[in-house]
Amino acid sequence: MDDPNNWPETTTLEGYPFHCELIEERASEDCGCPEELWIMGSLEVTLHLEEDGRGHVIADAGDWEGDLFIECSGIEDLRTHAADWINTFPLEE
Ligand SMILES: [Zn+2]
Repeated sequence: MDDPNNWPETTTLEGYPFHCELIEERASEDCGCPEELWIMGSLEVTLHLEEDGRGHVIADAGDWEGDLFIECSGIEDLRTHAADWINTFPLEE
């Protein structure tokens, strides 16, 4: 397993009109796939990377939840797809 001490202290995404920050890296409780929890704007966003390369993005706004299944080439690609998707939402603070 990864040593948490080796994780970057803060991971962010630049170039979006909302704040993006990596909160947690973990293995899925259901299937063991790598997952990342991000804050993107006012949303909690879970990135789930399947072994076969498919990505699953779950956006949670508290009273609303949406998800997206996409093809991606890795976790960094999945982050960008997720932020691009979030960027299409009308955001309210
Ligand atoms: Zn999985």
